Amino acid sequence: MDDSLEKKCLGGEGNDLARYFARAAVTHTPLSVSFELTHRCNFRCVHCYLGDQEAIHKHRHRELDTDTILGLLDEMVEAGTLFLTLTGGDPMLRPDFVKIYEHAVRAGLLVSVLCNGSLITNEIVRSFVRYPPRIVDITLYGATQNTFEAITQKDGSFAACLNSIERLRKANVRLHLKTVVMTLNYKEMPAMRAIAKDMELEFRHDCMLHPVVANSDNAGRTNGGGDILRLRIPPEWAVETDFEVKELARSLAELVKKLDGKKVSEELYQCQAGKISCHIDPYGIMQPCLITPSHSTIRAVDGIKAGWKKLYEAFSASSAVESFSCKLCEDKIICPACPGSFVLETGRPEQAAEYYCQYTALRREKMRSLSRKEVT
Ligand code: SF4
Ligand code: SF4
Repeated sequence: MDDSLEKKCLGGEGNDLARYFARAAVTHTPLSVSFELTHRCNFRCVHCYLGDQEAIHKHRHRELDTDTILGLLDEMVEAGTLFLTLTGGDPMLRPDFVKIYEHAVRAGLLVSVLCNGSLITNEIVRSFVRYPPRIVDITLYGATQNTFEAITQKDGSFAACLNSIERLRKANVRLHLKTVVMTLNYKEMPAMRAIAKDMELEFRHDCMLHPVVANSDNAGRTNGGGDILRLRIPPEWAVETDFEVKELARSLAELVKKLDGKKVSEELYQCQAGKISCHIDPYGIMQPCLITPSHSTIRAVDGIKAGWKKLYEAFSASSAVESFSCKLCEDKIICPACPGSFVLETGRPEQAAEYYCQYTALRREKMRSLSRKEVT
């Protein structure tokens, strides 16, 4: 990896990452790309947004081959991409993972890898040592074998995950842990935090579960949310969980002071998806982000630059919507929802899902009361 480039971009002396983002927005550059190398996974997580793994495995023959992927990585660099996230499914189910990973790093991309942690071979650890990733992100589903495997539905997955974490730590690979909070593991949050603390690893959580995303291996259908959303914790618990993290609580309390009276943007999409970032699925379809479907089928193999141009034009053209239910909401900036998640739940990008409104109202209340306490 070009170390000086990483320093320059990630907070090195005299530099400002925000400048890169601002410049990318002006030049319409796909600065950040997430790439699902496969939807296949060796786990069968109860909350998985990818849907039925048996059906997904049947689509294996449609996945992009190694040479095509390597070519796309080179094209990304040429198009101005700097940040690449390799994800899945579990990307390490592909026997060519190391080849793809090393090619990406050698090409100059700052690569993050998201995985379930159970498939990290010694060859992969050696590769991470040779070509350090920006970060390896592993999901910890619980603090005990019972809870972890009740979620992953895979015997031995807890031990395999902890074993990989230990080997990566010993090898000094940059590593973060995260969890998806749901009814099944909520009570183990303190214990999960303790595991991460003992290992001196950064740990973050996400309480927002999504229904199955529409993609081409489930014929573009979502599951409407029923089964997965039953695992969601109540909004009160989600807010409590957020505020148990002191640094997060502090920064939210700070944020609320800046928000009051601030004019909100009325745009449908407030994020960077389709503006400076995009997503590529295992079959080469380009979309604004993992959960937001594209308005038309855009194939990466027809050229990254051409695909990005089409995506950018289609996406920015769709950004102002009269009937957007969040249009004038002042809480938008502290709300984790986005039109992509609304499509999954309400079927329409402009129609908010109730859970997010409830969560965000409680969040603002808590932020306000914390901020008042600070003042008094
Ligand atoms: S580890 Fe991730 S991709 Fe695999 S089944 Fe679980 S949620 Fe889905
Ligand atoms: S989902 Fe609700 S809280 Fe969030 S931005 Fe929309 S209206 Fe506001």
